[in-house]
Amino acid sequence: MDSNTHSHIDWAPAFSARAQNLKISQTRALFAVASRPEVVSLAGGMPNLKDLPLHDIARSFGTLFDQNGATAMQYGGGQGYEALREQITDIMSLEGISASAANVTITCGSQHALDLVTQLFVDPGEPILVEAPSYVGALSVFHSYQCDVHHVLMDDDGLIPEALEEAATALEAAGRPAKFLYTVPNFHNPGGMTLAETRRPQIVEICARHGILILEDNPYGLLGFDGHLFPALQPLNPEGIIYLGSFSKMFAPGFRIGWVLAPKQITEKLVVANETAILCPPMAAQMTISTYLRDFDWYGQVDKFRVMYRGRARAALEALAKFLPDCTWTQPKGGFYTWVHFPSGINTWDMLPRAVQNLVAYVSGSAFYTDGRGTDYLRIAYCYPPEEEIREGIRRLAVTVAQEKELNGAK
Ligand code: PMP
Repeated sequence: MDSNTHSHIDWAPAFSARAQNLKISQTRALFAVASRPEVVSLAGGMPNLKDLPLHDIARSFGTLFDQNGATAMQYGGGQGYEALREQITDIMSLEGISASAANVTITCGSQHALDLVTQLFVDPGEPILVEAPSYVGALSVFHSYQCDVHHVLMDDDGLIPEALEEAATALEAAGRPAKFLYTVPNFHNPGGMTLAETRRPQIVEICARHGILILEDNPYGLLGFDGHLFPALQPLNPEGIIYLGSFSKMFAPGFRIGWVLAPKQITEKLVVANETAILCPPMAAQMTISTYLRDFDWYGQVDKFRVMYRGRARAALEALAKFLPDCTWTQPKGGFYTWVHFPSGINTWDMLPRAVQNLVAYVSGSAFYTDGRGTDYLRIAYCYPPEEEIREGIRRLAVTVAQEKELNGAK
């Protein structure tokens, strides 16, 4: 039968309550426009992979498939490839974590880990604490599980302990204690700030005292511009903290491999949740990453990334100082982002179509809150475009702001 003869069925009323909360993210909607070559995209947080030695890596993977292809192409265990889990414990030891591979579960990126952990801990309507602002991909997960999201203020030194204490106490007093705190301590997405080392034990103490599990998300930790490694929160309370790691930024996101370090009891549940969702993480991807870690100077590669991102961050900050002197912004010590504040009068969400018309894209600060806040901020991701494009993008942004101001003044 000609498909045109079928009448349209509206499935919207059939979607589950969870699915009603699945909305296209502002970032994703933008990717389509921002990927046009004439647009300078300061929007997406895509790692820049130009320095990866792809030919060498391809040769090494060829050998792996020749020698061990049958295993690489087979199903594996639900917790993930043991050799890789061992290597992951070595990586985490750089940040002071002393872990057993038995407590590591491999996931399809840390995005998948966020989904599994939220599924394990939060029933619809239950409260959780997140930073203000918070990673948009995590907020999508929290929405999909119908979490009641409470933002906790940050400043240039990261999450504010007093604000956390207040939020935890208020929820407790209301008889609805928070199920977990979600935090990105290093080189924050979208904020660019890093949690001060003096605040780390305070944050862990507050959560321990209130019985709040911490979800420590650390995909950027190795990308400090001067090579400094901030100590993870996890060793301060291994029984009360779930740590999420990822190969996406220290290597590449293409294999979609991340991991969770959790206490034993939580790991047992996580493995079942992982098996239920995907049976097992992809063996081919895990074995290739394991080979990469074994055969390559992967840390030397991270150093190259660090230097590249440092140059890009410097270009972005210098351009902001030159073209947008009325704004303020965070001073990232690593990672991909700076968080720009506009003096009153500019709404970065309303301004976005004009910016895209002027061939520059960014993400409005409102994407990183669940409560409509953030329209006086925007996130600049300096990770992907070359330095001269970053400068040009920020110049175009300044032109856009000037036009917007003129229009606002004329109203
Ligand atoms: N957490 C944060 C803070 C991120 O910025 C990202 C990716 N942008 C992720 C988690 C997910 O990363 P992946 O799934 O690629 O490991």
